Amino acid sequence: MLSYQHAYHAGNFADVHKHLTLFAVLRYLLRKESAITYVDTHAGRGLYPLSATESQRLQEHRRGVEPVWQHRDGFGQALLFEWCQALGDTQPDKTLLSHYPGSPWWLGRALREQDALRLYELHPGEHRHLSEQPLANNAARIFGDGLEGLKKQLPVTSPRLCVLIDPSFERKEEYQDVADTVRFTLAKARHAVLLVWYPLLPAAHHTALVNNLAASGIGKIWRSELFARTPGSTTHGMYGSGMLVINPPWGIDETLSTAFDEIAPLLGERCYHRASWLAGE
Ligand code: SAM
Repeated sequence: MLSYQHAYHAGNFADVHKHLTLFAVLRYLLRKESAITYVDTHAGRGLYPLSATESQRLQEHRRGVEPVWQHRDGFGQALLFEWCQALGDTQPDKTLLSHYPGSPWWLGRALREQDALRLYELHPGEHRHLSEQPLANNAARIFGDGLEGLKKQLPVTSPRLCVLIDPSFERKEEYQDVADTVRFTLAKARHAVLLVWYPLLPAAHHTALVNNLAASGIGKIWRSELFARTPGSTTHGMYGSGMLVINPPWGIDETLSTAFDEIAPLLGERCYHRASWLAGE
């Protein structure tokens, strides 16, 4: 039984971390014409009104997307400027931040005629919302398990594959399942670009995933972590957001490190970014 609902957290610092990373990767992949299959293994509902009861309960967007949006005219870096512009495109009133777009929307806007997008969601309610989103015909909304769905697709027929794995980690075993799925995917599609999100929690469950992939022999893994609070300052709750980019496009490490160093002070006094190569470079 799934209980996690992303609407309570939409637009928080972890979403900014995740979707800015995704945006930077897509921006790079779109430089070439060759077709891409995108797979979003844990899609969520797609678009989140920030005035909804769920969003208003914790108001996490106030320490996430909101300060970034408010600073939108002050960014020196093209990536941040373009990200805010894209964010503005989703808003009914382009000057007002009223909605936060989830991964289906960020992937959907990158979709060209030659590409395909497969969005998996296992929660019936979330899937229903997702089905109501206006997305192109080559975006399939699938009610089912995303990791199993991804594995069944391989190898894909398009020359390129880009995968976002963003589970809710309601079960501890999911860290291991994600590591196994990444390995399986790369065995079938060696050049696939994979983005894997994980929470930084006091219990440090993510180390199972990170250590597994570090020992896997995968050629290149860039690790990016955005800390909202100092590790050790809390005994419960998420203190940071982690992303692994496997087979990262060239230069993405520097571009994203610059972006996160620029936005971290906007997200909180103690917020900072740390990056390293888990494999390669
Ligand atoms: N990727 C979304 C975004 O960036 O906007 C947020 C996804 S949210 C963190 C995780 C989602 O995965 C939830 O909507 C949950 O219902 C769904 N989910 C949980 N287990 C799943 C599974 N095995 N397969 C597909 N979806 C799953």
